[in-house]
Amino acid sequence: MENLEQFRADTREWLEANCPEDMRQPMRSDEDQCWGGRNWVFKSEGQKLWLERMAAKGWTAPRWPAEYGGGGLSGPEAKILGEEMARIGARRPLSSFGLDMLGPALLLYATEEQKQQYIPDIINGKIRWCQGYSEPNAGSDLASLRTKAEDMGDHYLINGSKVWTSYADKADWIFCLVRTDFDCPKHEGISFLLFDMTTEGVSTKPIKLISGTSPFCETFFDNVQVPKTQLVGTLNKGWEIAKYLLTHERAMIGGFGLAGGGMKGMGQMAAAKRGTKDGRLRDASLRAEASAFEIDEMAFGLTIERITDETKAGQGTGASSSILKMYGTELNKLRQELFMAIGATDALNFDTDSKGALVRSWLRSKANSIEGGTTEVQLNIIAKRILGLPA
Ligand SMILES: Cc1cc2nc3c(=O)[nH]c(=O)nc-3n(C[C@H](O)[C@H](O)[C@H](O)COP(=O)(O)OP(=O)(O)OC[C@H]3O[C@@H](n4cnc5c(N)ncnc54)[C@H](O)[C@@H]3O)c2cc1C
Repeated sequence: MENLEQFRADTREWLEANCPEDMRQPMRSDEDQCWGGRNWVFKSEGQKLWLERMAAKGWTAPRWPAEYGGGGLSGPEAKILGEEMARIGARRPLSSFGLDMLGPALLLYATEEQKQQYIPDIINGKIRWCQGYSEPNAGSDLASLRTKAEDMGDHYLINGSKVWTSYADKADWIFCLVRTDFDCPKHEGISFLLFDMTTEGVSTKPIKLISGTSPFCETFFDNVQVPKTQLVGTLNKGWEIAKYLLTHERAMIGGFGLAGGGMKGMGQMAAAKRGTKDGRLRDASLRAEASAFEIDEMAFGLTIERITDETKAGQGTGASSSILKMYGTELNKLRQELFMAIGATDALNFDTDSKGALVRSWLRSKANSIEGGTTEVQLNIIAKRILGLPA
């Protein structure tokens, strides 16, 4: 216990000294996130310093093994780090599909050589990854994917296409599901490959959305040669890795349900916009809604902790991530609805310098219950794998 107290004191002191002032401000929109990668242009000197300093300590991936550049922290230490960052409103130094999705899968399934090659660059934000899962006609029914990888001796030859590949045009590498056997049940002929987006034959095409901005791309593979050393896990057994990675993606998306990025509590936000009377939010119905939201958010935070502890103790199942995904995304949608209600017409430009950021976040939250597997699919998983209901 004494050690943890010392760890907290040291962490607090380090964060105070090293977290730049502009990284202690709440994120105003997605554009404030730092994604890293070969082509990343830092938005400020503070953003650059914050990533470099946190990565040097391994604190972009606090719980990953120190031998690959991670923080090597225990669960209680990582929790303290999170609390101390929240205390000063410190932003997450790096948003990354590598940290939230690929890394955990590599730690479990990759060879030692692959870990040494890929994990440090995920931690320090040098390589930005995108996810090549969905295809036309293979979204919820992902195992129907048809992108083909042929064995050519020393390499695989990839032909096919992906869709909804977020940030494919900005990513350096892709983690990609391919079909390596067409003559077996659909879950059994899938493999998990990694390759550089600059490989000859890879191209992307943006998908435009009505909102004007879009992270989405179509991604095409035309005779792409991928060295066999870039296969992760066993040939034709990639479905197991794909599912494991999805549990991390779902838990990450579920985490949107919690206030992050130095964001204030709903009650505080409402009070700042709508004013108080006798120390309480002036508008009684808004007060009730904000309180109910904060209670739900707190309960959800405790559920995340419980599931995390159970999973570490070997009692939980990957299916629990579907609970987090389903409820967390609903909470985030509710948060954005409340922000809009609090701001009324000002919501189009409240608490932010960048015009319309709030309304964009509100619109964006609608996609939370689709990405990483829709709410309907999560409910099916919860029904079957957690509640044990008949399929
Ligand atoms: C913001 C965002 C980012 C994304 N980023 C990526 C990415 O980076 N990489 C990537 O590979 N993909 C990405 N996706 C794609 C995402 O994974 C798919 O959209 C999702 O899996 C749903 O597939 P689909 O769109 O083909 O819908 P469909 O599978 O066609 O589903 C259509 C509707 O039918 C329902 N449905 C389907 N099957 C069932 C069932 N068995 N029971 C009940 N209802 C069912 C669904 O819930 C949905 O409402 C992203 C999506 C979004 C919204």
